Amino acid sequence: MRKLFEIGGLAAAAVLIAFGIGALVMSVQGRSTVQDSLRLEGIVGSPDMSPAGIAAEAKKAGLPASVSLPTVDVAGKPIDTGARARAFASYMRIHTLEATGGLTYAAMPRYASADGKGTSDIAAAVKGPSGKPLDNPLRNLWVTETALTTALNTSYLAERISLFGIVVGIALLLSGLGFGILAIGGALRTASSGRAETPAPKKLPAAGPGRLATRRFRATRKTTEWRFVMKALVYNGPGQRAWEDVPDPVIEQPTDVVVSIQTSTICGSDLHILKGDVPETPPGTVLGHEAVGTVIEKGSAVTTVEIGDRVLISCITSCGRCRFCKEARYGLCTGGGGWIFGHTIDGLQAEYARVPFADTSVYKVPEALTDEQVLFLADILPTAFEVGVLNGGVQPGDTVAIVGAGPVGLAAIMTAKLYTPGRIIAIDLADARLAKAREFGADTTINNGTENAVEQVMALTGGLGADVAIEAVGVPATFELCTELVRPGGRIANVGVHGHSAELHLEKLWSRDVTITTGLVDAFTTPQLLKLVTEGRLDTTPFVTHRFPLDETMAAYDTFSDAANTHALKVVLEAVPVAYAAPTEKHAVAVG
Ligand code: NAD
Ligand code: ZN
Repeated sequence: MRKLFEIGGLAAAAVLIAFGIGALVMSVQGRSTVQDSLRLEGIVGSPDMSPAGIAAEAKKAGLPASVSLPTVDVAGKPIDTGARARAFASYMRIHTLEATGGLTYAAMPRYASADGKGTSDIAAAVKGPSGKPLDNPLRNLWVTETALTTALNTSYLAERISLFGIVVGIALLLSGLGFGILAIGGALRTASSGRAETPAPKKLPAAGPGRLATRRFRATRKTTEWRFVMKALVYNGPGQRAWEDVPDPVIEQPTDVVVSIQTSTICGSDLHILKGDVPETPPGTVLGHEAVGTVIEKGSAVTTVEIGDRVLISCITSCGRCRFCKEARYGLCTGGGGWIFGHTIDGLQAEYARVPFADTSVYKVPEALTDEQVLFLADILPTAFEVGVLNGGVQPGDTVAIVGAGPVGLAAIMTAKLYTPGRIIAIDLADARLAKAREFGADTTINNGTENAVEQVMALTGGLGADVAIEAVGVPATFELCTELVRPGGRIANVGVHGHSAELHLEKLWSRDVTITTGLVDAFTTPQLLKLVTEGRLDTTPFVTHRFPLDETMAAYDTFSDAANTHALKVVLEAVPVAYAAPTEKHAVAVG
């Protein structure tokens, strides 16, 4: 009977050993499969992200050659570095993942083509895990990105399970061996003594291999979290800005889209925020409220915008439902819109951005237009047009005096010309800005630091004054100047953002029938301006004085904030630096 037990014990030990070995082999195999698939899903990125760097990293990791940007378009035509490349606008974003346990840099390329035509090139360049080109890589890669996140999380779990399998395997193996030894020992003892043995004392070790291993497993378990990070220009309190890592934006509301920013720019308001003049902007906010980008994710309620669409993101967001949005006064939106980007929510000087109320707030960019052709329709063009020209009621033949020849004043010159005024007078303290004003179409320029602007305007208007005065500076002196140079019955359109009270000389104005308007841009004219650009009636590209790769936004700020020396008007931030020709010096607008 005892013999039977001994034989049974040996058999059980053998089974345990076999199971142990099996569990070990399967777990180790499973583990490496998980790691392999991880490697196939990802693409190794190098810290400097240069093509050579990526190639070197890929080689080191034994991966297939990494993705390269296509050199020909779908039609087989080579993509040059000029406008074509911009229109094509393929780009690759690589996100370094934190805590890649086992992988030095796990990264995922995000490919997009502005017009969707880049897909076949990308298909040739990017192979799926099976080695076959992806049938719709534009979509698949985005899907794959989500899949990657899931895969990473799942494989994290899978790795843990396989680790557990290894532990169980070892435990089975050891207990099988122990059991075997006991059984053999018992058999030997039985054979030698020939008498019944008291059952062997249960020698379950205090810290048996299984328990020990389990403890070690727990002790070394990492609380690893996978997450995507992006770079963005962050306001860190007055005087402090940094180009730093922040979590990727995600869909928060069903009406949101997430956009991969292609082109962005800096505005004077960003400098105001940095000075600490805008207390409602909390430190930690990503700045920027003007951009063109490609939709990469969309909320379930978004119906008019598709993934892959290239869109203009306006400085003004519209909920589309509140009283003011229904009156097309989107700037006053009370439903969560208005000026929110880079103000009360994260803005657009970033690799990615969440865009609320997408259906009512973004504009699809016509395929034929470059990002730069539409970028300034996000703020300065509608601002100058609506708050300056339309509020000022510019009529054919009018004398229009524009005080301030910054980007907004220049945009007022450009859009006033749509109404064929008789004369445009630009007034500024900086000669360089006045020279720009002449390029943009001003007929007369006055430096009010060295000349008497009121006298000059009176001399030009038969002693009456300007029909329309547009204030585009934002200081008390320039508002007061406008009230002095406007004719009786004339209109003053204030555009400037004022930080101090200005004096209103009602004792002089009360009998002069002067209309004064104020306003925050609503961007209700954006579709109209877009049509003008599409039809070649408006060329906004002369605003561009400098271009920077997006990740040099810090340097772009230095240049933009030192306009007196750099003569910067608008600096363009580009997600993919393209070797452009120098900015053209051609004239601003063609009317008629
Ligand atoms: P900017 O600072 O680039 O340009 C201002 C120009 O005014 C400069 O050329 C400067 O030389 C000139 N200037 C300064 N003091 C002057 C003076 N005393 N007399 C004559 N010229 C003087 O600003 P910008 O980006 O062109 O914007 C202009 C204004 O429009 C700002 O106040 C801005 O905040 C405001 N803005 C308003 C809205 C809105 O919705 N109402 C939207 C955007 C911008
Ligand atoms: Zn609204």
